[in-house]
Amino acid sequence: MTRYWPRRGEKQSRVAEGSLLSPEERCGQHFRYRDLIEVGSTWEQHRIDNRPRERATYEAMAALCTKVLDPVQTKFGGLDLTYAFASPALDKLVHRRPSPNTTRSRDQHAGCELNSKGKPYCSRLGLGVDFRCPGIGSAAVARWVIENTAFDRLYFYDDSRPFHVSVGPDNKRQATLMTKLPSGRLMPRRISISYFDRVLPTASPIV
Ligand SMILES: [Zn+2]
Repeated sequence: MTRYWPRRGEKQSRVAEGSLLSPEERCGQHFRYRDLIEVGSTWEQHRIDNRPRERATYEAMAALCTKVLDPVQTKFGGLDLTYAFASPALDKLVHRRPSPNTTRSRDQHAGCELNSKGKPYCSRLGLGVDFRCPGIGSAAVARWVIENTAFDRLYFYDDSRPFHVSVGPDNKRQATLMTKLPSGRLMPRRISISYFDRVLPTASPIV
């Protein structure tokens, strides 16, 4: 059976510097590793080496494509990925921004990478990605993801913004609405598919 991430506590295999996978290699039907490595406004600005060092992170990238991104691309087309894998260096740069909206220990953008003590930066492992489909509201796409893919966690903000989806060993299939409070803090609330049925216009059912 294919496993896309290490069992908790299992020793992971680090990719030797000289044999890192080329970002040009395909990691799914529609995507290359580059699409998940060289992505986002902070990366665009700094263009650092953001390649993962753990084999398990590359495998999580492939799983993210197979389970979520490829099916969504086939269904809706034109995915616009806005953030995906973040190495420690990229995460540091993102945290210099005024509202970084990322938590390394929880949101799975760190993939399966390990810190200097050999512990995962994010114990949820797997990998997270943020995206939208231009011309289609995120509510419709997120609803479809929840109903049709083997995702782990999904964070939805609003119809006009990209949303966050991950794959990972917990396989929670858990959707959370993130509402911005006047203080700027995000308040999480667990939601089900019926939330999207309420916010989506009834005139445009997703079939
Ligand atoms: Zn995210």
